[in-house]
Amino acid sequence: MDIPVIEIGVLPPDPVAPDALQGIKRQQTNPSRWQGENWSTFVNALAEQGIEVRQDLASCGIFVTDAGGVAYGMPHGIVVACSAEQIATLLKVAQVYHIPVTVRGGGLTTEGESVAYGGVLLDMTGMSQVLYIDTEKLIVRTQAGIFWHSLAEVLRRRGMDYLSAPLNLTSSVGGTLGVGGIDVNSSRFGCSADQAIALQVVTPTGEIVECSDTENPELFKRVILGYGQFGVITEATLKIRPFTPLKMHYFYYRPVGPISVA
Ligand SMILES: Cc1cc2nc3c(=O)[nH]c(=O)nc-3n(C[C@H](O)[C@H](O)[C@H](O)COP(=O)(O)OP(=O)(O)OC[C@H]3O[C@@H](n4cnc5c(N)ncnc54)[C@H](O)[C@@H]3O)c2cc1C
Repeated sequence: MDIPVIEIGVLPPDPVAPDALQGIKRQQTNPSRWQGENWSTFVNALAEQGIEVRQDLASCGIFVTDAGGVAYGMPHGIVVACSAEQIATLLKVAQVYHIPVTVRGGGLTTEGESVAYGGVLLDMTGMSQVLYIDTEKLIVRTQAGIFWHSLAEVLRRRGMDYLSAPLNLTSSVGGTLGVGGIDVNSSRFGCSADQAIALQVVTPTGEIVECSDTENPELFKRVILGYGQFGVITEATLKIRPFTPLKMHYFYYRPVGPISVA
């Protein structure tokens, strides 16, 4: 690995943070593309288990980058998630043939965390069903590929709401629990991940495990904010609350006039 040369003192001191290190070149943190060893054998092994891998350019090209648009990678193939059992089989076969698997929900990361640099991209949007809502215990159990706006639609029909979700609602529950998630309610209710009471997770070796603060707590702690590195979240039990209508306030300002640029 090349050690970056840090030239401190070349630029004038930063007026806001005089002790800031300036002039550090942005480092390439994304891995180089995996080259595809054993790929065809792997795809055939999955086909024997009834798992389809989409390999056409159109299917793969959709996932070439994330919302940030600064990292680019092309998966060798896409598997659309449909059940924890299917994902468990995928991960077990991937272990045998040493195939990288990248999990993706809404793909709203900004630094390429949900971009596959070769291998399989596991598209979680195929698992988007709400499983049950308990309005007395104030919990919902949902598949983790669901987008927050879809979850909100289902909850609000029952007079309920989630506690906190990213303002960009086309992120998924699983992806958000994988990174944290904050919104205007977070100061009162915590981050999105704080709503999670229990999770169903498929571990990298293909076990389907239920985890929470009391059941397999080590896995629970690692999967939350784990960026998909410690397992695939397939279902989540989340805290909910009664729906309260949103109040919007609009502030109107007089035009400030043309801004002169020196
Ligand atoms: C325009 C814009 C606005 C945003 N606004 C906010 C905001 O208001 N608040 C906020 O907190 N964030 C915000 N973000 C960041 C973004 O919302 C989060 O990165 C997002 O919540 C992640 O959800 P996702 O489904 O898009 O996850 P992805 O980007 O698909 O994945 C996020 C990470 O989790 C992993 N992952 C995905 N699904 C799973 C799963 N089922 N199990 C395990 N790991 C998984 C991925 O591999 C990746 O590492 C914003 C981003 C953009 C581009």
